[in-house]
Order: sequence, then C-alpha cells, then structure tokens
Amino acid sequence: MSKVNREEILSILDKYDKEDITIATLGSHTSLHILNGAKKEGFKTAVVCEKGREIPYQRYKVADEYIIVDKFSDIVNEEVQDQLKAMNSIIIPHGSFVAYAGLDKIENDFYVPMFGNRDILRWEAERDLERKLMLDSGIRMPYKYENADEIDRAVMVKFPGARGGKGYFVASSTEEFNQKIQSMLERNWIVEEDVPQAHIEEYVSGTNFCIHYFYSVINDEVEMLGMDSRFESNIDGLVRIPAKDQLDIGLDPSYVITGNHPVVIRESLLPQVFDIGDKLVDAAKKLVKPGMNGPFCLQTMCTDNLEIVTFEMSARTDGGTNTFMNGSAYSYLLFGEEMSMGQRIAREIKNAIKTDQLEDLIT
Ligand code: AMP
Repeated sequence: MSKVNREEILSILDKYDKEDITIATLGSHTSLHILNGAKKEGFKTAVVCEKGREIPYQRYKVADEYIIVDKFSDIVNEEVQDQLKAMNSIIIPHGSFVAYAGLDKIENDFYVPMFGNRDILRWEAERDLERKLMLDSGIRMPYKYENADEIDRAVMVKFPGARGGKGYFVASSTEEFNQKIQSMLERNWIVEEDVPQAHIEEYVSGTNFCIHYFYSVINDEVEMLGMDSRFESNIDGLVRIPAKDQLDIGLDPSYVITGNHPVVIRESLLPQVFDIGDKLVDAAKKLVKPGMNGPFCLQTMCTDNLEIVTFEMSARTDGGTNTFMNGSAYSYLLFGEEMSMGQRIAREIKNAIKTDQLEDLIT
C-alpha cells in the first residue's frame, strides 16, 4: 500500500472550479454545524449518509446533496469518491469519519481533497503517538503507569481507540484493577485483546474542560473558540445519590459520554489555556509536518491548584464543538458574530480561495 500522493490530490484540486466548491462530510458527529457553517459562508454542501440516518440533515436543511450509502464505511468506495470529486468537494474530517473510513484507507486510498493535515489523524488515534506529541509540547499530562503492579494511588484505566469512555474505570490497587478488568470482560465492554493494551494513568481529580481551538494556517494564529464539559453516564448520575447510598446500590462508576455542556473557564486561567494550545501547535509543526491545520481539542481537568492537566487531544474537530453551533462566549469575543467551528472552517477555506492559498489547507 502506498500513501495518498499529495501531488495527485493537488492536481485534483487544481481542476476544481473554485467558484463552485462543495463542502462535504460524513453524516454523523459534528456534521450538522459543519454543513450549516459552510452554507452560511456561501458554499454548496453534501452529506454522505448511511441509509436511515438522513433525517437530521433533512429536518435541519443543512445539505444540498445527499450521497446515501449502505454503511458509513462506504465513503471510501471509488464510486462515492468519484461523486464527491465531481461536485468539487472538500471533505471535512471528524471523529466518526476517521472511525468509519479507517485510518489506513484515509492515508492510502482516499483521494478526495481533505481539509487539514491528513497525517496528524494517526497521531491522535494512537495513544503512544498522542502522548509523544503532548509530552514534546511540554504540557502537563497525567502520570502514566507502565504496569498494573505499580498502581499506588487512584488511576484511570483506558483502552485503545475512540470509545466515548466505554470500558474505562477507576482503580486504586492492583487487586481492584484485576477485579474490574474481569467485570468489564463480563459486560463485554472490553475483549481479551484489549487487556494487555490497558492504558493506566494517574486519576486527576478536578473539573473537566474540553477546549476547542482553531489553528489558522493563513493567519498563523491559534484561536480558542469554545469549551465544553462532558456529560457522562453513569458517573454524573451516581454523584446525585447521597454518598452513603452510593456504595449500597452496587454500581461501578462508568464514564460513557452521552452529551456535552457549554462552559466558560475562570478568566485568570485563560493564559494557561492559550499557553497549552500554542505549545501543541509548536510541537506539531516539528513532529507532524506541516503541523496543525484547523480545529483541535485539548481535553483537560483543572485541579484545585488551578493547574490544567491534559489527558487527551483531538487533532480534528471534536464532538464538544456541537455545544456552540450558534457560537460561544469566546467565538463571539473573537468574531462578534455567532461563529461555530464548522463556520470557522468554511471561512478559512473561503479566505484561502480569495488569496489563492487553498493548497496550504488541503491534504
Ligand atoms: P476520554 O475518552 O479520554 O475523553 O475520557 C472519558 C472521560 O474519562 C473523561 O471525560 C473524564 O471524565 C474521564 N477521564 C479520562 N482521563 C482521566 C484522568 N486521567 N483523570 C480523571 N478522569 C479522567
């Protein structure tokens, strides 16, 4: 397998009518505001949608064109790619696109011009690469345990891939770790192959801020457009039960993400917020050339020492951007209008078309 040839992508882009670009994405995750934002910036829009999942796009009227497929992963099929290219499409990647299309296909077989840095998607998906990028950037991360025998305090245990928190658990000793692994296997939330890949890290007690940035390649500037906090089942339900009853009901806490709330952070913490965003962009420039391009997200806990600890990153638009489809407090400060992440992406593309820099945004 050989990697998608950049020259070929650029030659496809070169043949596109720049006055008639379509912004396209897979119908899931953050596609509502990606398409809505694209329309607001004057683009045509297309959604690639699994049969039966088209209702939200019809009801919210965000898509001009529908490419209906049997399954989401068909987005990489040649006929679908041809249809997209015939519409002069630029694909906006998001979490579900990466999950359904698959990294290998995106890297090797997907010849539709895509917004962002194609190569960085693997860096956020593979925990070791993600950790390297974050460590090199010098931002504070949770301590990582190499082995379950070393557990000496509360730890968070995670498994490979984007699972929306499913199967994650907290343990405070090696015995508890082993016992909870068994219980996750019994629930079928993890499989045997996951066990050796368990990622064990310091449990950071604090409040959750998922910070949504946009790095503009055109302006060489890191913008912070919004923040959300996760709504997780069942932990957010458990804490509504009096502490004395929490043990009695015999439920293990779980961290399955079910929704997001928009939040703002204490203003005095904003210098840290910008500092970690800038640092990640600097490290990405060195490690995954040409670096960050467009949306990215740092998922953090803020401790009672007012230290922001980053436990995860997304190097593409993150699901929490859905909390500001009509703009956030921060995107309003920056733009004075209701700017969503989707619209910000479309505006970057529009500006690049005007200044003939589109090639710099596309991989
Ligand atoms: P993730 O899939 O990494 O976003 O994690 C899912 C959820 O697990 C997060 O939203 C947090 O509530 C929780 N979490 C993840 N890592 C940690 C950590 N190191 N300390 C405390 N909570 C965590």
